[in-house]
Amino acid sequence: MPGFIIPVKRRYLVRFDPKRIPHAFADVLIIGGGIAGIRAALAVEPNQDVIVVTKDRLLQSNSAYAQGGIAGVFDPLDNFGSHAADTLAAGKGLCDPQIVDMVVREAPHRIRELISYGAHFDMQEGEIALTLEGGHSHRRVVHALGDATGQEVMRAMAELVRSRPNILIWESTFTIDLLTHEGSCRGGLVWNPNHGKTFVWAKQTVLATGGAGRLYRETTNPDIATADGHAIAYRAGAELRDMEMVQFHPTVLYIAGSSRHLISEAARGEGAVLRDVTGYRFMADYDPALELAPRDVVSRAIATQMAKTRHPCVYLDLSHLPVEVVEARFPHIRKVCAEFGLDFAHDLIPVRPGAHYMIGGLTINADGQTTLPGLWAAGEVSSSGLHGANRLASNSLVEGLVYGRRTGVGASHLAAAQPDTFTAIPLKSDWPERPQDDGLDLEDLRNSLSSLMARYVGIERDAPGLKSAAEQVNFWDRYVSDREFSGPRGWELQNMLLVAKLMIASASARKESRGVHFRSDFPESDPQQNQHISVNAAQKQPADHANPATGWGR
Ligand SMILES: Cc1cc2nc3c(=O)[nH]c(=O)nc-3n(C[C@H](O)[C@H](O)[C@H](O)COP(=O)(O)OP(=O)(O)OC[C@H]3O[C@@H](n4cnc5c(N)ncnc54)[C@H](O)[C@@H]3O)c2cc1C
Repeated sequence: MPGFIIPVKRRYLVRFDPKRIPHAFADVLIIGGGIAGIRAALAVEPNQDVIVVTKDRLLQSNSAYAQGGIAGVFDPLDNFGSHAADTLAAGKGLCDPQIVDMVVREAPHRIRELISYGAHFDMQEGEIALTLEGGHSHRRVVHALGDATGQEVMRAMAELVRSRPNILIWESTFTIDLLTHEGSCRGGLVWNPNHGKTFVWAKQTVLATGGAGRLYRETTNPDIATADGHAIAYRAGAELRDMEMVQFHPTVLYIAGSSRHLISEAARGEGAVLRDVTGYRFMADYDPALELAPRDVVSRAIATQMAKTRHPCVYLDLSHLPVEVVEARFPHIRKVCAEFGLDFAHDLIPVRPGAHYMIGGLTINADGQTTLPGLWAAGEVSSSGLHGANRLASNSLVEGLVYGRRTGVGASHLAAAQPDTFTAIPLKSDWPERPQDDGLDLEDLRNSLSSLMARYVGIERDAPGLKSAAEQVNFWDRYVSDREFSGPRGWELQNMLLVAKLMIASASARKESRGVHFRSDFPESDPQQNQHISVNAAQKQPADHANPATGWGR
């Protein structure tokens, strides 16, 4: 697997003195309370103590915003081979076929389990209702509340996890860094506004911090998606891979002030079509599968059509569909549109692509173990081999369930074999006595970064754009990483800058187009490059590992 090393400036984002801050102990620490983190917590043996930390409220996660549904084979006319084949086709050679097979076979079990937790899925004639989404060759997507699947699933999971006496949930608690000692993970350094910093020592740690959408100006992701987990794991020494692979969702509501709501793929699955500003249905010019082509194809087609027509968006048209179908299937997005004076069933709905899903992440094995002993990862923060170079719609909630359970079981098993010690390790942070004050306009920097990423590291990339992005991010990082911040907005910015570096370096290194990664200067796939690109942090840089495109790592 080709890879390179990009060193980090500091191992920890903040100074600390282990004698001066409180300590807590857990068998298993779970960082993140989305579908992957909660499923992991539920899988830990009831005689073990679990702490789950979430940086916002428990129900504020990408998982809770999921709309379309969860993919699994339920129709007797469907089969695992077909679900696997669709997943592999979308992944464009980068999926691990064994992982794909394992996940699609486990999917129906994990979905039925959700029903046993109390989640109510939409039904049709006494059976689970199934819809079709882009890239799937069968109706196999289960959904709830029409188009608010995540809300219903997370409600049921949150109620269950809160009822478990062995699980403590620390909401509004930000994980600043993982604690490492002698090459393994020992827990996390967390902060909350009431207690300040706390060391949480854990026998095993599961990272389930979700995605990175907030690195981009247009995104479907809520505020929490700032790639913290990618950054804290990287600083701790875990390997990341495929960081150039970011999926853009083709249809994000484009109304100023609407905070960029996603319009689920299921709308196109039910028959909605895309038109440009002149009313022309353009997808036939790009792909025979029309509106149900894979997401990368539809996103690029929309971007091209926007450029051709010099118009900032295209339009989704459902006006030919029966109103009762639109009302039953899309009550949530219909309500959002109504708030802006649009009738979802009759009007043309303005849409454009936005960053949606971070495919790249921590390299994990089939059980969810990362390359850092003691650390596990599940869900969007990880790279399991399921999605390859493009994620098939509705495959990520199911991945969160499958790997959430696997990491919870595995971490619990290893923790059971470790004795209780309740000792704190005298760790040191690598800071000078007096770092610079933070005094920066953080919002200005965040906006500048997300605009830069959209411009140069978005749907289309090329060498000059990536070089400009590298220079600019390097410049910002030089003065931002020398400062010590006292709260989440600053730590998030530092994490986003680090992850932007990794994404730009990886996108520069992949000199071909594959799946979601489209290089206008290398528009074809190159069979020689059909492999993962990994990145690692290290203090000392061997010369042959430097990334020639960006100069990082030299
Ligand atoms: C609008 C939208 C619609 C989607 N629709 C679908 C769909 O229909 N089907 C599908 O399969 N997928 C869908 N996805 C993708 C899917 O929702 C996500 O990939 C999946 O939910 C990720 O789950 P997760 O548990 O990995 O992360 P999340 O659900 O994002 O949870 C991350 C957790 O980590 C916590 N966290 C993050 N950083 C820190 C930190 N520093 N300290 C402490 N806690 C932290 C957060 O507070 C949160 O609790 C959608 C995504 C979006 C945004």
